[in-house]
Amino acid sequence: MGDTIFHKIARAEIPADVVYDDGVVMAFKDIHPKAPTHLLFIAKDASDFVPSIADMSDATAHVPGMLIAAAQRFAKEQGIDGYKLTFHVGKAGEQEVFYLHLHFLSQKTL
Ligand code: 5GP
Repeated sequence: MGDTIFHKIARAEIPADVVYDDGVVMAFKDIHPKAPTHLLFIAKDASDFVPSIADMSDATAHVPGMLIAAAQRFAKEQGIDGYKLTFHVGKAGEQEVFYLHLHFLSQKTL
């Protein structure tokens, strides 16, 4: 398994501005935000690692749902009632980091 920058963030080996962590999924601020709030939701456990939606298997098909559920929970907790959720898929889909992540964008500043 190739190590990406998000593997290191998940293992807390490099710093990130973490805004959500339920033990299974965490979210941190994107370093190049495209909206007032731009977060990245990732699964923390190595057993839930998927490089990209394109690489999903039956064994890992639950992972996108985990990320979406965590984003929904986070938005409710923060009182954010409108947001965009995006997966970039593959290099042609502008994916740069091959560790599955859900982009969360909102006009509301945290
Ligand atoms: P992708 O295009 O792969 O879907 O998005 C990767 C995102 O990760 C980009 O929006 C980029 O700004 C963000 N990113 C890349 N490296 C880092 C990092 O080291 N820390 C944080 N917080 N975000 C990063």
